[in-house]
Amino acid sequence: TVGIVVVGAGQAGFQAAASLREAGFKDPITLIGEETALPYQRPPLSKAYLAGKTDAQGLLLRPATFLAEHAIGHRAGARAVAIEREARRLRLADGESVAYDHLILATGARNRPLPVPGADLAGVHQLRSLDEADALKAPLSAAKEVVVIGAGFIGLEFAAVCAGRGLAVTVIEAAERVMARAVSRETSEAFRAAHEAAGIAFRFEAGVTAIEGEGGRVRAVLLKDGTQLPADIVLVGIGVLPNQELAAEAGLAVRDGIEVDALLATADPAISAIGDCVRFPTRYAAGFPEGDRVRIESVQNAVDQGRCLAARLTGRPAAYDAVPWFWSDQGPQKLQIVGLGLPGDSAVTRGAGASLSVFRFRDGGLSAVESINRPADHMAARRILSARKSLSPEQAADPGFDLKALAM
Ligand code: FAD
Repeated sequence: TVGIVVVGAGQAGFQAAASLREAGFKDPITLIGEETALPYQRPPLSKAYLAGKTDAQGLLLRPATFLAEHAIGHRAGARAVAIEREARRLRLADGESVAYDHLILATGARNRPLPVPGADLAGVHQLRSLDEADALKAPLSAAKEVVVIGAGFIGLEFAAVCAGRGLAVTVIEAAERVMARAVSRETSEAFRAAHEAAGIAFRFEAGVTAIEGEGGRVRAVLLKDGTQLPADIVLVGIGVLPNQELAAEAGLAVRDGIEVDALLATADPAISAIGDCVRFPTRYAAGFPEGDRVRIESVQNAVDQGRCLAARLTGRPAAYDAVPWFWSDQGPQKLQIVGLGLPGDSAVTRGAGASLSVFRFRDGGLSAVESINRPADHMAARRILSARKSLSPEQAADPGFDLKALAM
């Protein structure tokens, strides 16, 4: 046996390797990772790391000795370029090829590029990796005016860090509200209000036509309506694209993500896929346009899929059925989401102002709960959703109704 090879040493790939060892897997495990750092957490990059509250050491998923202690091989700075399915070999960019008994694709996602002139100017940044966060550190300490393109989670977290550092921040968003794809109108409004109170300016329904520079450095962002927003740093946060090319070129099905079944298996019994790069079936996506299948970008999903796959590969197969949850810290506002909402879901609120939960419903059942600075609601909602307990909109909105008791 040649063991298990994992492409991608991020949150999901690392978790699969660690869980395989925990389950007693004895054969070799090799992580092939394009990045040079030891496996680390991305969430703090747009929060504590750029705010100067943690260092690179504090980002590591486990202490530096963990991989060696658990006999997990790590080829850092190694890019996989092709899968030879017949031969069960993975080809690397340096020409070497690595044999596998089972291959795990945990390739994550990459930044979606901004297709406008000037996007390659110095001072225009994206934020996915430790290298990209490090590239922002020095410019940020010298900056005065920041423009963020995209009011998604990462853009807003970064904007909040900048505002906290006393910088002038403008966020440009194509939709009419923040986090429009992911959260209810009520949650969008609560976050917009909080960010505006912290001094962040917004331009909604705005399009960027160009980024203007001077001597190769960014100077301003030009909007469709002719507005010129001066900037010495621009952060582009307009979403990601799944790293699915390895799978696609090997003839595996992809559709905004590598297609896997409920066991996280591809059509090739020797290849599975987990984390940000996969599209998978889940009951939480009931009513979704793509037929109960989703691609989810979250730590919870990466970790739980890593564990689920490790269990199958060590003889305890089970369908992936974890309840999706997510968090985003934007300055003092802590957002926690459980479940999967759709823009057409109905909503009721519990609490108000800076302490609010939005309960969303679809097809007569609870679909998602968004909690702002209300961790107890979030924890109760996780159990209510995963145990399929029934909760009516009237109960959810009634402050006297005991959510915790229902969750027990
Ligand atoms: P990744 O962690 O992206 O790992 C994939 C790895 O594979 C990368 O290291 C990549 O370089 C490598 N790779 C890709 N292709 C190849 C190849 N061909 N050969 C070799 N290596 C390859 N989630 C939350 O739940 N809460 C948060 O608050 C939150 N904040 C975030 C903040 C930021 C700035 C970012 C970027 C993400 C955040 N996330 C958050 C999302 C979360 O980090 C991801 O969902 C998670 O990292 C996904 O894990 P993954 O292993 O699937 O992918």
